[in-house]
Amino acid sequence: MTIAFLTLGCKLNYAETSTYERGFKAAGLQVVPWSAKADIYLINTCSVTATSDAKSRNLIRKVHRINPSAIIIVTGCSAELRKNEIEKIEGVTAVFGCYEKQRVVSETLSLAGISPEPVPETPSANCPGFADSVFAAYSTGERTRSFLKVQDGCNNYCKYCTVPFARGESRNVPICECVKMAEAIAAEGVKEIVLTGVNTGDFGRTTGESFLDLLKALNGVQGIERYRISSIEPNLITDEIIDWIASGTKFQPHFHIPLQTGCDSQLERMGRHYDTAFFAAKLDYIRKAMEGPGKPKVFFGIDVMVGLPGETDEKFRQTKEFIESVRPAFIHVFPYSRRPGTPANDMPDQIGEEVKKQRVAALEELCARLSAEFREANKGVAERVLFESTNRKGTMEGYTGNYIRVERPYDPELVNQLVDVTL
Ligand code: SF4
Repeated sequence: MTIAFLTLGCKLNYAETSTYERGFKAAGLQVVPWSAKADIYLINTCSVTATSDAKSRNLIRKVHRINPSAIIIVTGCSAELRKNEIEKIEGVTAVFGCYEKQRVVSETLSLAGISPEPVPETPSANCPGFADSVFAAYSTGERTRSFLKVQDGCNNYCKYCTVPFARGESRNVPICECVKMAEAIAAEGVKEIVLTGVNTGDFGRTTGESFLDLLKALNGVQGIERYRISSIEPNLITDEIIDWIASGTKFQPHFHIPLQTGCDSQLERMGRHYDTAFFAAKLDYIRKAMEGPGKPKVFFGIDVMVGLPGETDEKFRQTKEFIESVRPAFIHVFPYSRRPGTPANDMPDQIGEEVKKQRVAALEELCARLSAEFREANKGVAERVLFESTNRKGTMEGYTGNYIRVERPYDPELVNQLVDVTL
């Protein structure tokens, strides 16, 4: 029997699809590309914007056209938020919400008439505090890095965000489980792990363990050379964590920290848990702790959402000016998307799509300048690059610790190797 996977959205979704895939392979199914005719299609959906919801529905219809008799399984955030709607789409067999992920593999196999050998997909559940509500997951299939899911859900309810509704309350995978998954990843020969979650820094809600203890435990896993934290809220990356990372660990000088807006009145209005002074001081603290002569500069990526309700030209100008003052290496720009069920959706002073487009363009132009400046500032610095396997017309690429993409002539000996370079 054949199965095909389609995944939309974030790193978490990719880690979860990859974990489902290992379960189905263990039960003897053959994985085929989704454009091929498969007996089962699993679509892991995203609902972060109206566009991603629409894309999810279109993919369901597309695979139904490819094979009208196929079993179609829908998981992910649209499955949670739009369950009734998706169940009515022709061809859909089953829809699994955010607290039903543990059952996806076993129930799909029985729908296909396959009674699986009891294959314990997620590592043993005898870790203290391993709540059923958390689906432990990690990605495989890439040779150099893997996404490791350590946390899920969020309790913040920022005024524009549907994620807490789609992924539920903040909960985490126990540290001993995370270590087991990291060991499994190392056994695959992978050298770099990206920690991922919805509100990753909020790790420990369901087990009472601390995020810093998690980092320390993972730091000891043999075979993993480098770690990155995919994204962390500014108020959750404590000075204690920074001091520890700066003391010489496998955690890289690369932080992705959501800002959303650089205007204090908008931050307060959106229910964010910091102001611009706090944000700037945090970046300053990290730079002081981790940078120095001959040392790589810390890579800061930030999320910014333009066109939130009430964002006047003046408030947008404040955001742009603030970003210029903290000089990140990368800006991930999103145009605000109205989401039903969120307070921001009903706010009066909505911004027009054309204005949003102009503001996205303005910040993308700023991002290009800041990225070039960051690369320039790292010229001549000694760094280590983890080279990937792809041979692009005789060259190979990889990332430095501080997330600069580097290329060199292809050498098969260097695939998945950490190599010292001077940029
Ligand atoms: S912290 Fe992030 S995931 Fe949580 S509600 Fe706010 S924006 Fe959404």
